[in-house]
Amino acid sequence: MSDYVIAPPPQPAVPVLGGGLFPVRRVYCIGRNYAAHAREMGGDPTRETPFFFLKPADALQPCAAGVVVDHPYPPATDSYHHEIEMVVALQAGGRDIPVERALACVYGYAVGLDMTRRDRQNDMKAKGWPWEIGKSADASAPIGPIHPAAKVGHRAKGFIRVAVDGAVKQEADLSQMIWSVPEQIAILSRHYELKAGDLIYSGTPEGVGAVKRGQTMAGAIEGLGEITLRVV
Ligand code: MN
Repeated sequence: MSDYVIAPPPQPAVPVLGGGLFPVRRVYCIGRNYAAHAREMGGDPTRETPFFFLKPADALQPCAAGVVVDHPYPPATDSYHHEIEMVVALQAGGRDIPVERALACVYGYAVGLDMTRRDRQNDMKAKGWPWEIGKSADASAPIGPIHPAAKVGHRAKGFIRVAVDGAVKQEADLSQMIWSVPEQIAILSRHYELKAGDLIYSGTPEGVGAVKRGQTMAGAIEGLGEITLRVV
């Protein structure tokens, strides 16, 4: 018998391509990691220190390949934006990880969406308040199957895009990231002890925009497949 006084909540986990489940500890996200997106958000695309935020691990919405998944439109927003992002899954962590050793921490990669209540995020920015209400809605982190790096290699280039009702809204190349995946891991590990089970949403390119109920988002990254979600 456990000592828990209520039933323990389920362990968030993401299916792995080819079988198995990747258990998730934390979900880190980087802001403004593509220059053109930094500009569209009113910022400067510089190589000053990047910034990070977190989403709760239970906001993950695993999406099987080749299936249209119903994605719930959250309450308290009239401007719910798609942000297509590559997700990095860590099999090991540590503190002060050197850039040269960072890729050894990576288990695999997936297609993800950092869904955002943009109106609430903008309110919080204006007030200097935390972003959670904008970034942490239930189901706000759709993610496709994790593709092990052992099978697909490390992903530093290739297309990343999302279409809404068949019209491409965001399209860029992974090589356009301001901070590479190894750099993101190295910098994060100066602020947190990273651990196996951590995910990193690696930023979105330009072209973010709102979706409405009834619309379908199709997000894809070269070599990592496609996820399809109908907003309901
Ligand atoms: Mn984002």
